[in-house]
Amino acid sequence: SQTITEFDTIAAISTPPGEGAISIVRLSGEEALATAERVFKGRDLTQVASHTINYGHIVEPSSGEEVDEVMVSVMKAPKTFTREDVIEINCHGGIVATNRILQLLLSNGARLAEPGEFTKRAFLNGRIDLSQAEAVMDLIRAKTDKSMKVALNQLDGNLAGLIRNLRQDILDVLAQVEVNIDYPEYDDVETMTTRLLLEKARDVKSRIAELLSTAQQGKVLREGLATAIVGRPNVGKSSLLNHLLHEDKAIVTDVAGTTRDVIEEYVNVKGVPLKLVDTAGIHETDDKVEKIGVERSKQALEAADLVMLVINGSEPLTAEDRQLIDLTADSKRIVIVNKTDLPQQVTLPELQTLIGDDAIISTAVVTSAGMDQLEDKIAELFFGGIENSQTTVMVTNARHIGLLNQATQALDDVMTGIAAGMPVDLVQIDMTRAWDLLGEITGDSVQDELLTQLFSQFCLGK
Ligand code: GDP
Ligand code: ZN
Repeated sequence: SQTITEFDTIAAISTPPGEGAISIVRLSGEEALATAERVFKGRDLTQVASHTINYGHIVEPSSGEEVDEVMVSVMKAPKTFTREDVIEINCHGGIVATNRILQLLLSNGARLAEPGEFTKRAFLNGRIDLSQAEAVMDLIRAKTDKSMKVALNQLDGNLAGLIRNLRQDILDVLAQVEVNIDYPEYDDVETMTTRLLLEKARDVKSRIAELLSTAQQGKVLREGLATAIVGRPNVGKSSLLNHLLHEDKAIVTDVAGTTRDVIEEYVNVKGVPLKLVDTAGIHETDDKVEKIGVERSKQALEAADLVMLVINGSEPLTAEDRQLIDLTADSKRIVIVNKTDLPQQVTLPELQTLIGDDAIISTAVVTSAGMDQLEDKIAELFFGGIENSQTTVMVTNARHIGLLNQATQALDDVMTGIAAGMPVDLVQIDMTRAWDLLGEITGDSVQDELLTQLFSQFCLGK
């Protein structure tokens, strides 16, 4: 049920705000060509061939005043992103000129697009599926090249393809069950039917589990790998953080315990988006101000996907170092022996026995020694497996993960229902629910409200 207004002509600036080299104002809808023609001087845009770029000027229709020199792309339906007529006006990018062009279009037949409305139309007009639409949003937000690749993969529709296969399999078994119920003269119909359902529920559940197992890495790509840097005061945590950031954002001093605040920063380490958390050191202290930092650091440690434990190699291990080694034992951990430019007091074999299989990286942050090896280690820890598998589908989207978990629950209900000897028609309901939930991922069964909410998250002009 689409209202008329969904097919009126919309316009928005589709390049990011700011003084770029060029800006693009985009129009989509039945009146796109006519609207552009009213403010364009050059060729007659309503007469040019589709998919052409046309040189000319944007003019104020009433006064004839020239606003900007432009290139206008004319793309006629249906071979466009929205499957409607689309016009893209490439202008010189000054904020004032771009806004004036937009205003002119708005006063000559177009309406300002809502956030995500171009993508919403592409979806409503059947051009893309919902997981692809969300991939567009992820692309806009992607933090590193690798994140971008995962989003692009989803844009290809790989996830949607997998989900549609799962749904088809469920549908097949539901159809089979219907047939069996309709012909109860067969022997042992009930047993045969429940066996079919049970096998399919197990099969689909394990394929969903495989997809969900990619979600952790997917989350890392989307949100960044939460990384806590811990160590007793003065071992070089802030220096390490600054080095990774390549700028002086954390405070470095010679006085022990001076990094009081927990600072969060993103940094791209060989394609891994790290969400860095600098800590004040998690030692016990009576100092009130520092205690706030200490408490927060403990929380950061709990939330961390990766812990970098820094040790000062130029001093013997202290009780505090050993305490930190114990505290971080269950975390994914890299132990960094810093200050290797100074005479060393920590013996590596001894340290290795304390930390088990975890990696030790020797560094001297002040000379950059070992920093490459550290960055390699971080990348290796998390993307060793992904590097060679660009074609595999990865689930990165929180909404998709939620739906896959719910579908798993519905399949569990199928299995426990069968085990409890529930009637087949009740088991069928749970199976159908799994089918519905999977359909919400691709948008094959979504309500209007969800759509509006989803697309409103997009940037304006997409
Ligand atoms: P934090 O308290 O653990 O954050 O330690 P900081 O990063 O504030 O560093 C404490 C002091 O150690 C500063 O004077 C740093 O310049 C110094 N430092 C950090 N890394 C190294 C290193 O690799 N070698 C040497 N010689 N000094 C370092
Ligand atoms: Zn510090």
